[in-house]
Amino acid sequence: MSATSMERLQEQMRSLKLQRIADELPMLVQEASKRELSYTDFVAEFVARELGAKLERTTQMKTQMARFPFQKTLESFDFKFQPSIEAKVIKELSTGRFIADADNVLLLGPPGVGKTHLAVGIGLKACAAGYRTQFVTAAALTASLVRAHNENRLEEKLKQLVQPRLLIIDEIGYLPIERLGANLFFQLISRRYEKGAILLTSNQSLAGWGQVFGDQVIATAILDRLLHHSTIVNIKGESYRLKEKRRAGLLTRSEPYTDGSSSGNSIGNQEE
Ligand code: ADP
Ligand code: MG
Repeated sequence: MSATSMERLQEQMRSLKLQRIADELPMLVQEASKRELSYTDFVAEFVARELGAKLERTTQMKTQMARFPFQKTLESFDFKFQPSIEAKVIKELSTGRFIADADNVLLLGPPGVGKTHLAVGIGLKACAAGYRTQFVTAAALTASLVRAHNENRLEEKLKQLVQPRLLIIDEIGYLPIERLGANLFFQLISRRYEKGAILLTSNQSLAGWGQVFGDQVIATAILDRLLHHSTIVNIKGESYRLKEKRRAGLLTRSEPYTDGSSSGNSIGNQEE
């Protein structure tokens, strides 16, 4: 094939949005003749590469849309450092089955034990599996619900928050939620109940949620729906941040870590 026909073919491929193949075509043709590929094997390779590129693009787009605070993977999580986490439970979560089933996940434990890291890691897997995912902090979520309520567009906001197949709500319990916020939060949980998966992280044990939401009745109603189909991962361990500080010689082992973290969560790993 002449250089100009090759270029024209590449241009035509680009107009068909076969970007990756268009770029790689001269190399692919050369490889195919070197390896004496059959016509069908050549086309198969061609299609596989374009599909791979397409998957990469959708994963990238879903990841961007998710608005993660950082990108940390499950592969970079050191399970040996946190033995209270069963790796097989996280592995199961990484398959995304809980998302397909619209089940919930609660990651509980004191600050620094890796809740947000795990939430993001699971979220990245969800994006790679093609699930629309959204990450939000509990504080930002309640603020946006209250704003929508005050501006008379709560319904629209709730509909929007039901869309993602996985909603990750990070940091329940760091800031108290006022009455209206708690009420709207409950409405969101009810809307998503058995329709869309929620992954929540909290530094408070579930027994402390009455205080977080400022109302035991609302907290119980929220937990009732969340826990119906859920996996609870209760992390009891040391802060990873603290370990890094210690390693840098900034702290001694006997120095207590006081930042208001709660300990003694009473619920163990359980799956229903
Ligand atoms: P939490 O949300 O529980 O407060 P983070 O997930 O923010 O904690 O973790 C704090 C920091 O420590 C992050 O940079 C995170 O990537 C890292 N980290 C925590 N636990 C681990 C771990 N077991 N392996 C690797 N990095 C970890
Ligand atoms: Mg966190």
